[in-house]
Amino acid sequence: MRIIAGEDEHLAHNYHPLPVVISGGEGAWVTDVEGKRYLDLLSAYSALNFGHGHPAILAAAQEQLGRLTLTSRAYHNDRLGPFAAALAELCGKDLVLPMNTGAEAVETGIKVARAWGYRVKGVPVDAATIVVAHGNFHGRTTTIVGFSDDASARDGFGPFAPGFVSVPYGDAAAIEAAITPETVAVLIEPIQGEAGVVLPPDGYLRAVRDICTAHGVLFIADEIQSGLGRVGETFACDREGVVPDVYLLGKALGGGILPVSAVVADRDVLGVIRPGEHGSTFGGNPLAAAVGLRVVELLQTGEFQNRAKLLGEHLEAKLGELIGHGVTAVRVAGLWAGVDIDPAAGTGRDVAERLIARGVLVKDTHGQTIRIAPPLVIRATELDWAVEQLRTVLAG
Ligand SMILES: *Cc1c(COP(=O)(O)O)cnc(C)c1O
Repeated sequence: MRIIAGEDEHLAHNYHPLPVVISGGEGAWVTDVEGKRYLDLLSAYSALNFGHGHPAILAAAQEQLGRLTLTSRAYHNDRLGPFAAALAELCGKDLVLPMNTGAEAVETGIKVARAWGYRVKGVPVDAATIVVAHGNFHGRTTTIVGFSDDASARDGFGPFAPGFVSVPYGDAAAIEAAITPETVAVLIEPIQGEAGVVLPPDGYLRAVRDICTAHGVLFIADEIQSGLGRVGETFACDREGVVPDVYLLGKALGGGILPVSAVVADRDVLGVIRPGEHGSTFGGNPLAAAVGLRVVELLQTGEFQNRAKLLGEHLEAKLGELIGHGVTAVRVAGLWAGVDIDPAAGTGRDVAERLIARGVLVKDTHGQTIRIAPPLVIRATELDWAVEQLRTVLAG
């Protein structure tokens, strides 16, 4: 790999990137600085659900770039209202609170749940607790990593905020047992992405919904990676016909162009936040709103959800053929797969590096797993080709 001037000497080492230097992208493909093409099976962790440079999203951004990009929320802007209305409708909720990154949406969700707990539920001040799940990934702020059980995310960064109780993922009874009169919310990923595309058992989301309703606790679904078409539905919660009280959205909401996140909930929940209590200089800026609105419009057609569903079934069948041939297990939801690599075939990182040589980009997670999350615009023939490359590298 060509060394990029400045990186070794001046870039903080908070990442260990795979050895490829990308300089261009279109649809499901990227190009490196030497002109070599790669099929992108990561999509920036699902931030590129619509692919690189989707024409309709680019057009919305370019039109807005020339008109108005930033006002701050000190004033109104003419793009935020239409975006909020469209996103609320997509979610079937009343209100939208726009932020930028996913972690900010999670932080906002935590604040909303606590404020709701004190002002609506009547929990004694500063006593609120939130139930979370082992193996979670909700972002990188100090509050969020405080309830992570990933040592590399957490160790060395304390002291951490109290008020979180962690229980095994996929175990609804454990959630119910952890609920006390001070519990204000259950915060989970409907599918755990960073953990390796971990699917909960059937009925888990429905059970969590019922438990939250029965105990007067908010169900907060972190759909930042699982939502917006990835799993063959608009939201991963739709797989069980479940509607959470609070959606946390991000990643693909920014159309692969800029960070756009949001908390979406009904008025009786999100309405607890009063002017001055929460905000963000860039949150809800007109460029983000124009891009976010176009993303919502693309999702309103159902086209991307359908593609993810059909192509996902195809991918699942193809990946299934690799079990016993360098793969020990495969978990698939829509166009999203966690593939566990047989240690005899190398680590996840080894496989990702060998795939780069064959023009395919994936990302390893937690040692033996690789994650596959292509742009939803990918074609079946391209998926087939990518799986053939995986089959070849696994064969040694
Ligand atoms: C990526 C992710 C986040 C954090 O989003 P950032 O934009 O990186 O802050 C939060 N929750 C989930 C489930 C994610 O996948």
